[in-house]
Amino acid sequence: MMSRTHLAVGIASSLAASLFVFQPRSLSDVMISFAGGALGGVFADVDTVSHDKKHQALVSQLLGLLALGIAAALDWSMRLGVCEFVAGPNRAPSLFAGAVIVFLYLYGLITPHRTFTHSMIAMALFSGCFFLIYTRLGFGVLAGYASHLVLDLLTKKEIHLFHPLKKGFCLRLFYADKAADKFFMRLGILASLGLTAYRLYPYIVP
Ligand SMILES: [Zn+2]
Repeated sequence: MMSRTHLAVGIASSLAASLFVFQPRSLSDVMISFAGGALGGVFADVDTVSHDKKHQALVSQLLGLLALGIAAALDWSMRLGVCEFVAGPNRAPSLFAGAVIVFLYLYGLITPHRTFTHSMIAMALFSGCFFLIYTRLGFGVLAGYASHLVLDLLTKKEIHLFHPLKKGFCLRLFYADKAADKFFMRLGILASLGLTAYRLYPYIVP
């Protein structure tokens, strides 16, 4: 699947899922859901960065990290409290999780495409680390990551969902990078824009 499809669908999935789970909802929840969905939506394809000649995979990884950086900067400048919580006295779990996240990025770079990073274990490890840092962020990452695995499962190329088992799975419904991929990308963009506007509306209009 195209990187931008995963980015758009990851953001939309996270924003939609958080609508049903978190009450009461807040402005920081919108930003965290957006950033978590972007990050979780694209991380699995870190395993294509080293051999993607068009650098789309690298750009999408950087966009995911940028979304997190912007959310953190906005949170800090608006004093919404998430950065203060993460940097608070109980920092040890966040530091441990951060180290594991860096390891997962580095390990993902050297694993074959659609193997480790496209598995349930990688999804649990990657999102689990973000749960340790901040629960709502972990939830957004999990929703984005799950959307990535579901989208890739629909294609005609197998993923190692139960890694380290070598058996691959796919539903062979459509080819990645063809018409259906573009359809999901447009759907993801529309849903992301609509959900972001819907979620931000109460904070923009007095
Ligand atoms: Zn993938």
